[in-house]
Amino acid sequence: MESSVRTTTLPCGEAIPVLGQGTWKMGEDSRRRADEVRALKLGLDLGVTLIDTAEMYADGGAEVVVAEAIAGRRDETFLVSKVLPSNASRAGVRRACENSLKRLRTDRIDLYLLHWPGSVPLTETVEAFEALKQAGKIRHWGVSNFDTDEMQELALLSDGDKVQTNQVLYNLVRRGPEFDLTPWMRKRGIPLMAYSPVEQGALARNARLDAVAARHGATAAQIALAWVMLHDGDIAIPKAGSQEHVRQNFAALDIKLTPQDVADLDRGFPQPTRKRGLEMI
Ligand code: NAP
Repeated sequence: MESSVRTTTLPCGEAIPVLGQGTWKMGEDSRRRADEVRALKLGLDLGVTLIDTAEMYADGGAEVVVAEAIAGRRDETFLVSKVLPSNASRAGVRRACENSLKRLRTDRIDLYLLHWPGSVPLTETVEAFEALKQAGKIRHWGVSNFDTDEMQELALLSDGDKVQTNQVLYNLVRRGPEFDLTPWMRKRGIPLMAYSPVEQGALARNARLDAVAARHGATAAQIALAWVMLHDGDIAIPKAGSQEHVRQNFAALDIKLTPQDVADLDRGFPQPTRKRGLEMI
């Protein structure tokens, strides 16, 4: 199926969708499993081919759900997974990646992220990522929950410039990254991957979005997503456990926020005026 999903370009030159599918909390309850698989499959049908998961989610259970959803469709999927900082040593990364590949029932991960900064020297993790690339186990690597100073440190390392994304908490009520992290990343052409783009569902119930939503005949959650994807190059990865939410999130791609909408949202959700440490969920 021809995808109508807009794309952004990674530093390596590869285009990936600006809308992906999150999987945190999937694989935790067997009664929800069929719905989760159906939701992810519908996303793929619609062209939302980027799926974000992690070894941490449901202790690997989310990766197993993803495997079921992408069975027979691996080549159309852009698979993102993450290694825990406690596994970020040379041997640990190799082992964690093998385990993720087994659960995902695939031979490669498209983008492998360090889940958050930890105590293993970053240079060792970067070397391990590069070795996995050489071995064909991963195609690209990136980081998650890295603040500006950590991105700067990474950039100074040998092969640090191979980083493809930084996945961070970013949405209307978490605008902190705009102060200096997103400008730093934009300058270097590194797309930001925004996690919890609807603040784990809370923005779907936020009355400050109602007026803009009414103008577009949309829901508050759709406006929250459209706002994240408005920013040049940014990617939103909402988690949807139902087909209805997948459809709504896909439809958010067609919402064109006007300058008036953006001004109203800026009033309701002000931009940061000073540096704050990067928030994490
Ligand atoms: P989120 O995507 O902001 O919110 C998910 C919640 O919103 C779910 O309860 C979902 O309900 C609901 N929802 C989704 N679409 C909706 C819609 N159209 N209308 C109303 N409600 C809607 O939060 P998240 O799961 O924390 O973040 C997204 C993904 O980012 C995660 O799944 C994970 O892959 C990634 N993540 C990464 C990190 C990291 O440290 N790197 C941290 C957190 C998350 P249903 O499930 O009922 O559809």
